[in-house]
Amino acid sequence: DREKNIMTGVLSLKSKKIRDIMTNLIDVFMLEADQVVDDELILSAHGYGYSRIPVYEKQRDNIIGLVNMRDFALLDTESGKFTVRNVMTFYNRRYGKLIMPDDSCYEVFNKLKKEQYHMGVVIEYENNSSLDPKVRAVGIVTLEDIIEEMIQEE
Ligand code: ATP
Ligand code: ATP
Repeated sequence: DREKNIMTGVLSLKSKKIRDIMTNLIDVFMLEADQVVDDELILSAHGYGYSRIPVYEKQRDNIIGLVNMRDFALLDTESGKFTVRNVMTFYNRRYGKLIMPDDSCYEVFNKLKKEQYHMGVVIEYENNSSLDPKVRAVGIVTLEDIIEEMIQEE
């Protein structure tokens, strides 16, 4: 029955990894930090239907922040003065960091909940042997992704 499925779902979170449920970077809708925010950009971004949009700089795997679609609501787009970076910096939306593909969903669920983050960026180290390893984003995960995993019915 339903309760039993939920219990099974919750228990399976411990063995399930983030890589199995994350949204791969290639499928993530993002904005570039230096894009000027005009009505056209806002309109097309709305078309994707997501509330939270990661912001990258130069390469897509270099995520530097997050904007919420509602952050654009009161913006003066006429002046053409504001970039995605300006909006990102002003609202300073927080998100989960240092989440790795091999982390368990259970662990990440607790982390996101504790810190009250809705979204986390999943990263990988580019070169493990280097003293200064570079970080690159490989995907995103939201509370929604994990909860869906928890309550899925067989
Ligand atoms: P909300 O329900 O708060 O409006 P949302 O619908 O934008 O949020 P979620 O409900 O958190 O997003 O997630 C739904 C699915 O969409 C998840 O699989 C999540 O990984 C994915 N998702 C969220 N934001 C993006 C994005 N910017 N690009 C691609 N996929 C996204
Ligand atoms: P809200 O919760 O206002 O609807 P949101 O859903 O857009 O905002 P999330 O994407 O869920 O926000 O992630 C931001 C979360 O971080 C929010 O739940 C917010 O309450 C929380 N938060 C923001 N700033 C702080 C802070 N300084 N200390 C603790 N929590 C914070």
